[in-house]
Formats: sequence, structure tokens, C-alpha cells
Amino acid sequence: MTDTKRPILTPPGGKMKVLLHSCCAPCSGEVMEAMLASGVDYTIFFYNPNIHPEREYLLRKDENVRFADKHGVPFVDADYDTDNWFARAKGMEWTPERGVRCTMCFDMRFERTALYAHEHGFPIMTSSLGISRWKNMAQINESGARACARYEGLSYWDYNWRKGGGAARMIEISKREEFYQQEYCGCVYSLRDTNAHRRGQGRKPVEIGVRFYRPDTSVD
Ligand code: SF4
Repeated sequence: MTDTKRPILTPPGGKMKVLLHSCCAPCSGEVMEAMLASGVDYTIFFYNPNIHPEREYLLRKDENVRFADKHGVPFVDADYDTDNWFARAKGMEWTPERGVRCTMCFDMRFERTALYAHEHGFPIMTSSLGISRWKNMAQINESGARACARYEGLSYWDYNWRKGGGAARMIEISKREEFYQQEYCGCVYSLRDTNAHRRGQGRKPVEIGVRFYRPDTSVD
């Protein structure tokens, strides 16, 4: 484990009951361990109808469930309502990653998370999505704040999980736990675009279910 000491975390307003939207085990591993180390009382909310195909969705979810069970963290398994996701993505099939389709995708997932937080008495929600350096953190934080603004008394915790050594620990935890290593963001369009990119480099297309972090995994 890296020598960088984890900071003590205090959610907004010192409210220690948090709903964590999780996209996958590799991204949430560090977020989960950081909150546990700071005594934050949190529940995982897994709502990711963007992930395609279903086999990939189940692999990512099961890995997250395994890690939550290991730490005794409550896990809410929300709907896999892909029809709604595709309906909202209509017309955005060819927009690039980090563009309007991704804003829609974050909005959709956070709106559902915020509703659950509101209905179940969570004053704070946050997400593991921003820890990935492939994501635009401002875009994610804006979606989170928009979703929380729908409910009085609900705040989005826009903590930068990458800082203080978080990004390095995310990889260390993934290797230690030998998590499933996804090779594209999640939706069918990101899979298509990743495969096109790989083809251009003379590489084989993504193979679902074969790649796992190992202690000697190199991460580019
Ligand atoms: S690229 Fe990722 S964030 Fe963007 S729409 Fe697809 S799954 Fe969602």
C-alpha cells in the first residue's frame, strides 16, 4: 500500500450518513475504504443501466457486491432498466465520450440515486465515478449537484477522490483484490468506439470477462 496517508474525511455539514453511487468495484474500492477509515456510515447504491451487454453489467456488479460483503457495507441493487437508458440516449449515439451523452448518463444515474437518498433519509450523496482520470470531474459534480437540487436537504459531496494518493490506492486495491478489469466505459457506444480505436492500433477487440487486475498488472 502507498505511503500516502489517507486524509480524515468529513462529509458536507459533518453529516456522516452517505449514499454512495457506485459504478464498479475498481472505482469504488478506494472510496469505500477511505470512508470506512473515517467512520462514515454509508450505503452503496448500484444503478448503472448504461452498462452493456448484460454479462458485463453482471460482472461489474458482482465484483462490487463481493467487496461490499467483505466490508459489511449495505448494498442496494437498483434496476437494470436499459430501455429507459436507450430512450434517453436516442440521438446521441455518435457524440464523443465526455459529451452530452455522458451528461445524460450521469444525470440519469444520479437522479435515481437522489430519489433513493430522499426516500430513505440520506442527507448526502456522492459517487465513485469521478475517481477515474478518464472522466471529467466537473461534468460529474455538476450532474450530482443538479440531481440533489431536486430535494430539499440533500447535498452532493463533490470530494475529489483522486487526491491525497487516492488515484494510486485505487489501483493498489484493484490489484490486491484482483478485481475484474473493464476495458471500456460501459455503454454499447463506448464499446463500439473502444473497439474502433483498438482496430486502428492493430489490437483485438475487447473480450468480456477475461481481464482481471493482478499484482503485476500494468496500468496505462
Ligand atoms: S461513455 Fe460512459 S459515461 Fe458516457 S454514455 Fe457511455 S457509459 Fe455513460
